[in-house]
Amino acid sequence: MQEIILVKYGEMALKGLNKKTFEDVLLKNIKRRLKSLGSFDYAKAQSTIYIKPLSDDADMDTAMERLGKVFGIAALCRAAACEKSFEAICERSVDYLEEVLSYVKTFKVTAKRADKSFPMKSPEICAQLGGVLLEKFPSLTVDVKEPEVTVTVEIRDTHAYIHAENLKGAGGLPVGTSGKAMLLLSGGIDSPVAGYMMAKRGVHITAIHYVSPPYTSDRARLKVEELCQKITDYCGSIAFFCVPFTEIQEAIRNNCPEEYFTIIMRRLMMEIAQRICEKEQCMALITGESVGQVASQTMNALMCTDAVCRIPVFRPLIGMDKTEIIEIARKIDTFETSIQPYEDCCTVFTPRHPKVRPKLEDVETAQSCFDFSELIDEAVRKTCLLYTSDAADDRI
Ligand code: ATP
Ligand code: MG
Repeated sequence: MQEIILVKYGEMALKGLNKKTFEDVLLKNIKRRLKSLGSFDYAKAQSTIYIKPLSDDADMDTAMERLGKVFGIAALCRAAACEKSFEAICERSVDYLEEVLSYVKTFKVTAKRADKSFPMKSPEICAQLGGVLLEKFPSLTVDVKEPEVTVTVEIRDTHAYIHAENLKGAGGLPVGTSGKAMLLLSGGIDSPVAGYMMAKRGVHITAIHYVSPPYTSDRARLKVEELCQKITDYCGSIAFFCVPFTEIQEAIRNNCPEEYFTIIMRRLMMEIAQRICEKEQCMALITGESVGQVASQTMNALMCTDAVCRIPVFRPLIGMDKTEIIEIARKIDTFETSIQPYEDCCTVFTPRHPKVRPKLEDVETAQSCFDFSELIDEAVRKTCLLYTSDAADDRI
């Protein structure tokens, strides 16, 4: 009998009445990720999803790899299914676990008997199966405290399942269970990580990116699209909006005091993002800012930015060091793309001496040197949905 994948829920197993909604979204996300790998049968029971391939050629390695990036999953493992008789369990265990048990010295057996009508109790299953395995693999010894391998037998409704290793899942909550938010996505290291972190809390991400041609190039934008594509492995499909920002930046440069360029630019970015949020039903903004990282990210500067925000701004990296952010960027495979040296609109017209501790009233006065409302309207009108990057797409 074949091999299946067992997926165990994380935090959502603790949800009360909402649990079913969370389960349904998780199942939908899982199906989407596995769609291109063959057909599978899905069943739910006791905070576990059973994924059974319906053909022999299903790509189980890739399926495991993809599921390892689906939020809402605490642990996952491949398991052998067999008939619910002790003889079948012993035979299948010896056969299925041969490779792993030949390379280790210590093991233990645990049993979970969801089907209470199974004639043997859990301790009996452990003791007897342990005995069988000791006989078949003479170099093994039992270590109940710190075994190298824990063999688990689960007796469920229709079958028994045997597995020997639990992989840690991506954790968090299923994407889509916490509403939708707009990620200000640049080509840097931080913002893709910020998107990943909010997706981990179940937030469905929409991305917005500001371009200032000819100061920023097509290649710079393509780099950001590539980052957007990379985080879809975790975030699911992402709509990518592109905002033409050149005229606004030129107006800032031509009309406002230089030391306030960046902070005014950031306030206008927030203004435009919020307008797109209204159209897209996004309930919050997300940025990759971290306190003290640059002049526009001091507490005073963040306060001046937030003064124009009518919806919450989530900054999941706010208390993190760059090294910690880089560690996550490497894990989610965005780091190498992020460090490619392309220009960003934030780095054109940067002031030589930005105000590190701007006062809100001074920023407002500096910004009032020019009436940006028409340019904002125009930027919003010209903002276009470039594409929706989709985790269900197979990439080469
Ligand atoms: P770095 O890793 O270089 O710090 P960054 O993306 O954090 O890259 P910052 O200049 O620190 O760049 O910008 C702060 C935040 O502003 C970013 O995390 C991002 O959310 C947003 N941002 C910056 N530039 C853009 C842009 N061109 N389009 C959209 N959002 C941007
Ligand atoms: Mg940054």
